Amino acid sequence: MELSIIGSGYVGTTIAACFADLGHDVVNVDIDDAIVDSLNAGQAPIHEPGLDELVETHAGDRLRATTDYDAVLDTDATFLALPTPSNDDGSIDLSAMKAAASSLGETLAQKDDAHLVVTKSTVVPTTTVEVIGPRIEEASGKTVGEEFDIAMNPEFLREGTAVEDFLSPDKIVLGAQSERAYEQLDEIFASLVERAGDPPVVKTGISEAEMIKYANNAFLASKISLANDLANICKEFGVDSEEVLDAIGLDARIGSAFLGAGLGWGGSCFPKDTAAIIAAARARGYEPRLLQAAVDVNDEQPKRMLELLEDRFDPEGKRVAVLGLSFKPGTDDVRNSRAILLIDHLLDAGADVVGYDPVATENMRAHFPNIDYATSAADALVDADAALVATDWDEFAALDAQFDEMRERVVIDGRRIVTRRDGLDYESLV
Ligand code: NAD
Repeated sequence: MELSIIGSGYVGTTIAACFADLGHDVVNVDIDDAIVDSLNAGQAPIHEPGLDELVETHAGDRLRATTDYDAVLDTDATFLALPTPSNDDGSIDLSAMKAAASSLGETLAQKDDAHLVVTKSTVVPTTTVEVIGPRIEEASGKTVGEEFDIAMNPEFLREGTAVEDFLSPDKIVLGAQSERAYEQLDEIFASLVERAGDPPVVKTGISEAEMIKYANNAFLASKISLANDLANICKEFGVDSEEVLDAIGLDARIGSAFLGAGLGWGGSCFPKDTAAIIAAARARGYEPRLLQAAVDVNDEQPKRMLELLEDRFDPEGKRVAVLGLSFKPGTDDVRNSRAILLIDHLLDAGADVVGYDPVATENMRAHFPNIDYATSAADALVDADAALVATDWDEFAALDAQFDEMRERVVIDGRRIVTRRDGLDYESLV
């Protein structure tokens, strides 16, 4: 099929390249010239394992990019993969979705054939039906269910394994309100379903599809927070939390995934999605107490890590290495990374901060242009008084004699990844 994807960030680029690989003709529409140029030159604009190869293979053939919304006119369906960040009060900021829906509507005014518009972004229940559809109707002069259909297909890929996750999904959720829309979605996803070995396809309503994405993320974020809560209790008793969590993860009712304790969750999804669904629930008069507690526990973990450092010394004037800047291994995305909270606090306390990450340094430089950045973990440790391990990149597990280059050898490990050795003042957060 001919598909257009509006928004070409982590999700938009990944799904475009994967749909092209699955045999569709795909055009990415983005307002960012640099992203468009990069894609047309056959280079993925983001770091994601396997994505470079797919973009290089299909660019100029089944995959192209443009800033011109008119490209939509040659396609059968459009996916909206725009950012849905938080407003200051935590509620969802739909400005990019609204702008894109209006631009899409103006373009669709020129189209004679029916069109399918699929919300791929994470949006609170009722957004597609009450905000996106009406915007497109207003700008196009067309009617939902007649000249165009709307649908919702939440995305469950994880950064760092985005291509693999998209191509081997645990489930595909298709929310629609007409047979015609379901049929088109079936056609779009047929090659993926076949390649992925028949994963469950959940056909549901549009608002249910929207809520499934929030429920999914809320559950996972809460599971990690519960693991952290339990690990914090373990620490009070001198009990090894890893042994406890590994053991409970063997219970099939619990499962071991997302049961690791540490510095907590960050990234571009869990923080904003928990905030958005909490704000949306409150706006309807429901107080989501358990979810708010999960957020509170998560907010506390970096503070607990800094307390462990401050138990050793006042950071003022000390050189502190922050190892790991991305919000998790395998990605260069630093949005809402725990390292940002740590660095902010360290700078406020007057510390001299050196950051290191295998791939995320340039993105972090945009947040903190004035701290030092090392080109290797070993470099970051030279003359550092303390090292805070914020992301569990594998290479940190291999650090050993490099710690000898530190001045004071304080290592606070937020991810329980460093191998303990003699001469280190080592403490694990959990
Ligand atoms: P992103 O910020 O990486 O990319 C968004 C892209 O949209 C950017 O390239 C931006 O230039 C473009 N854009 C903004 N306004 C535009 C407009 N009016 N017209 C055309 N392009 C425009 O965002 P992302 O991480 O890909 O997330 C997109 C959506 O997918 C969000 O709702 C997010 O919650 C959801 N999601 C993200 C992930 C993830 O791991 N990143 C996973 C699942 C779902």
